[in-house]
Amino acid sequence: MNIVFIGAQGSGKGTQAEMLAPALGGCHIASGDLFREAQNKHTPLGLQVKAYMERGELVPDELTVAMVLERIEQPDCIDGVLLDGFPRTLTQAQKLDIDLQHFKRSIDKVVYLDVSREELLRRLSSRYICQEHQHVYNIVTHPPKVAGICDIDGSELYQRADDTGAAVQKRLDIFFHETIHLLDYYKDQQKLIVVDGNQNIEQVYADILHVLKRDNEDVKVTLPTSATS
Ligand code: AMP
Repeated sequence: MNIVFIGAQGSGKGTQAEMLAPALGGCHIASGDLFREAQNKHTPLGLQVKAYMERGELVPDELTVAMVLERIEQPDCIDGVLLDGFPRTLTQAQKLDIDLQHFKRSIDKVVYLDVSREELLRRLSSRYICQEHQHVYNIVTHPPKVAGICDIDGSELYQRADDTGAAVQKRLDIFFHETIHLLDYYKDQQKLIVVDGNQNIEQVYADILHVLKRDNEDVKVTLPTSATS
């Protein structure tokens, strides 16, 4: 299956996509992670996008689309993709549809995680990610076992500069003024699923699986232990 996750920063779409990827057998592509990786490696793309990211602005469509489509076409994504943070504009969504058509693929479902702005700000103020692989923690609701250290790879946790101050407000404004219009685009295609993202991680996960299975009998899911306990 090819699935798009739409949600504001802090809605939990990255966490859900990461949990669902092994369960559905697809690859998880987070455009923000790809950009941060490019920056950490000081690639030409990383340098090009740095200023946009620091200001909390969207990177131009052309750069974003080229980067994500290149990743989608890799062999490990043949069986399916879970797109997290892409598309964020109508142009990106249209280019994605056209590109997938070339490979006789299409987006099957679009999951919108609906979370109030108040809750998003609360979550973002306590969100930390790890240096090495960008695993996400929340020091209030999902803290690491050892303070400041990633449970999975042992690297240090840090708070993203664009999760605080003016940048975070700008990112939420862009989401609620621009990205939100994608809901109509996918609703018209009858692909949209709306899930209450204000609930805890396990409940949101269960809701997503429930709807995916209800709408598509072919969905084969291997439940991770965290979802069954
Ligand atoms: P994220 O980690 O998804 O919040 O993304 C971090 C930053 O990367 C965003 O604030 C943008 O500057 C950039 N970015 C990520 N995905 C996109 C996208 N689909 N379109 C444009 N810019 C993006």
